[in-house]
Amino acid sequence: EKPTVIIIGRPNVGKSTLFNRLVGKKLALVDDQPGVTRDRRMGDAEIAGLEFTIVDTAGWEDEDPDSLPGRMRKQTEVSLEGADAALFVVDARAGLTPLDEEIGRWLRGQDVPVVLVCNKAEGKAAEPGILESYSLGLGEPLGISAEHGEGIADLFTGLWPII
Ligand code: GDP
Ligand code: MG
Repeated sequence: EKPTVIIIGRPNVGKSTLFNRLVGKKLALVDDQPGVTRDRRMGDAEIAGLEFTIVDTAGWEDEDPDSLPGRMRKQTEVSLEGADAALFVVDARAGLTPLDEEIGRWLRGQDVPVVLVCNKAEGKAAEPGILESYSLGLGEPLGISAEHGEGIADLFTGLWPII
């Protein structure tokens, strides 16, 4: 049985781009897991021989960016059950938002290991955001660029000890 890794984060940080990057075009997607959320996608991922099931979520989409509605939180909670690790994605260019901090606080209270991922980290513009993300208290951030395919191998370093 392969481990399951769930991608979590506020809208527009690049969760789906990372999902697509990890799954690749050849692999099939399973859409719309019944009863979970209208937009949860699963796929087979592999980094340097480490195989896992990756889950993309959209639990905080279409919501007030400053709030964490219980209904949507519940959906992510359901997804988190049975996950072996969570990739918590923030946007290194935008810097932390109140919603990032709220999701981070919430994740710290969950019983799942978290790998903090600073996406959009191509170039120097991302450096302040990467440093700022240490304040989430979720360990050392991994700077990646899902769009440009940079730092993806570093995810291996974050994931292999915990899955
Ligand atoms: P989601 O809402 O978290 O699933 O985010 P998406 O994957 O839909 O991406 C949101 C936007 O960020 C899109 O315009 C992407 O092209 C862009 N994006 C994703 N990854 C990167 C990246 O590594 N660098 C930059 N500069 N933009 C990115
Ligand atoms: Mg998405």
